Amino acid sequence: MSIPKNTGQESISKVKGKRKSPPSVAELVEGILSSNKTALARAITLVESSNGEHLKKATEILEHCLGKKSDTVRIGITGVPGVGKSTFIETFGKTLTSKGKKVAVLAVDPTSSLSKGSILGDKTRMEELVKDPNAFIRPSPSGDSLGGVARKTRETIILCEAAGYDVILIETVGVGQSETAVHGMVDFFLLLKLAGAGDELQGMKRGIMEMADAIVINKADGDNIKPAQLAKTEFSRALHLYPPKENGWVPKVLTCSASENTGIQEIWEVIDRYMERAKQSDHFLLNRQGQNKNWLLQHIDSQIKSDFYSNPKVASLLPKIIQEVTQSKVSPFAAAEKLIQAYRQEAK
Ligand code: GDP
Repeated sequence: MSIPKNTGQESISKVKGKRKSPPSVAELVEGILSSNKTALARAITLVESSNGEHLKKATEILEHCLGKKSDTVRIGITGVPGVGKSTFIETFGKTLTSKGKKVAVLAVDPTSSLSKGSILGDKTRMEELVKDPNAFIRPSPSGDSLGGVARKTRETIILCEAAGYDVILIETVGVGQSETAVHGMVDFFLLLKLAGAGDELQGMKRGIMEMADAIVINKADGDNIKPAQLAKTEFSRALHLYPPKENGWVPKVLTCSASENTGIQEIWEVIDRYMERAKQSDHFLLNRQGQNKNWLLQHIDSQIKSDFYSNPKVASLLPKIIQEVTQSKVSPFAAAEKLIQAYRQEAK
């Protein structure tokens, strides 16, 4: 049995040396717990696999890795393409490793399997961070559903933390539902924006503003410094119109230049302050516990759904029933009941 390569998205840390057989669960767990990047990358490949045997192994590895390190910070980073996410992560990540932190960079990009890795897939991104021994970068897992991609990323967070990474940065593109998924797996959610268009608040999805713990206006350099300051004022004003967050945190608005490395340290200070407060008030723990509960319920949801639709009886009845419902021959509720009955009988 060989462990498949992560299609088109090889791990940064290549497996060195040739082995005859794949490493055992115990070997991988030991490797992860001793911060071995190769073992970590291999275990992530198992998590990302769709092969049942690999998933079984992945589950065992995860069991051994759960709760190994809890003093971590999970930070979600979003923003439209071109806003400077990878430049920011490179500069921010290097700032953190220079403080002695170990940084893992992951991504949630459900489109990457179609576009062959639109984020983090490009090896020229984060050139410096890739070489940093205290950084681990993993492109987005591929998958045909956001739910599947999100599940793999959540499990990868657990593996990275067990391998000793203190800060987990999770990048996502500022389009679609992936932001909500990432928000549901992090402690702090950072939104990158650009200034200068004069219509900063227009076209801004309300939900994303509400999710943000900080809004950072990037590219505040050169002629853009003044517009960035104006945008900062405008965003701060707009944020005050939102109801306060449950944990009492008032989202911060900052400016930075990822390429010139200005304002980056201040962003870390804000996150650090947030974490300190969240831990003091138990919000940190409650948030993570709530996220665990949601993952459990979401997973049950998706498993039951996939079990239902892959049931042979359901699969054979469904096309005909859909036709009957669309032609108003049967009510949708009666049709659903009929399918569920068929499923239950088959499942017995
Ligand atoms: P992403 O698509 O959000 O990951 O954005 P990138 O990090 O690839 O950056 C898009 C472009 O913006 C690149 O040409 C970067 O060099 C540039 N860029 C990123 N950050 C800054 C910044 O702080 N200032 C300036 N002037 N350009 C930047």
